[in-house]
Amino acid sequence: MFSKEMPLLPPDREALKILKDFLPPRIFDAHLHLFDASFTPRLRERLDPALPFCWERYEREMGELLNFPSILQGNFFVDPDPAQKEPEMMKKADRFLIEQLEKAPQSTAEILVSPEESPEQIEARLRHPRIKGLKCYHLLADRPNTAQADIWEYLPESAWEVAEKRGLAITLHLVKDAALSDPENLRYIREKSRQYPNAVLILAHAARAFASWTGVEAVEKLANAENVWFDFAAVCESPAMLRILQKIDRKRILWGSDYPICRARDKVVSLADGFLWMYQNQLSCISPQSPVKNWLIAIENLMAVRQAALLADWNEDAVEDLFYGNARALFF
Ligand SMILES: [Zn+2]
Repeated sequence: MFSKEMPLLPPDREALKILKDFLPPRIFDAHLHLFDASFTPRLRERLDPALPFCWERYEREMGELLNFPSILQGNFFVDPDPAQKEPEMMKKADRFLIEQLEKAPQSTAEILVSPEESPEQIEARLRHPRIKGLKCYHLLADRPNTAQADIWEYLPESAWEVAEKRGLAITLHLVKDAALSDPENLRYIREKSRQYPNAVLILAHAARAFASWTGVEAVEKLANAENVWFDFAAVCESPAMLRILQKIDRKRILWGSDYPICRARDKVVSLADGFLWMYQNQLSCISPQSPVKNWLIAIENLMAVRQAALLADWNEDAVEDLFYGNARALFF
């Protein structure tokens, strides 16, 4: 169950004192999810129908965590659920997104595209001027083990065509064990970004470098792909983000929270050549005598982003661009 509230505990507050000097006053969160239970059956058990993840709740919960920014805006998508391939569910999800856009006048949204949709079907859903992108997700691929899906199985050509025509972004969460270091993933990204130069591809989670090496080894190969961007959502270790800060034009990097996932006291870490998503109950088993401190994922992420920025000697302007300026330039 998603918790009702997102209380900040003493270890979180200690970290926030450190983050206070790092976080800029204006924030545009480029990767967050807003949704309710009516079109998200895969989370039904964990969601209170009376407590949707709506814009007001996001502002309230994340405002405090982000040191009460003077401006807090974002780019949001629903929680991607395979049930949303059904027209009725898709309509509900789109309607909900538009309602949120109306409450968040300087924010943007991306609609979830289904692999079977035609360009005309996608275009017909761009019903709000601030729908500025398309979201795809591996769970919608038509195969049993979607964690090993090739990108084309869940990011249809029709999405590229619409993004090219309308200058939209596409947010892509890579799968397959080696993520960006998977030769087929990398080949596809290079080929499509060249074929559709007016579309912008955002590689979520530092190209899903939850296993750091997958990003560290490969991001350099996209240095010249000017329409390929990165977001840092939910990444809890600094190496892949540092590599991006070193090798990619700093104007093509975005920060995102991955709200509401970032409310959990979990952590995702590199382990051998893969990664492990450690849940709060597992973390507290590590040292039952003296319980480990654990932060919210949001804080794990911000501390790792700060560490990457320190290691890369980034100045305040670059940090401000990462948290605000770059997203504004991309979406407006
Ligand atoms: Zn996400």
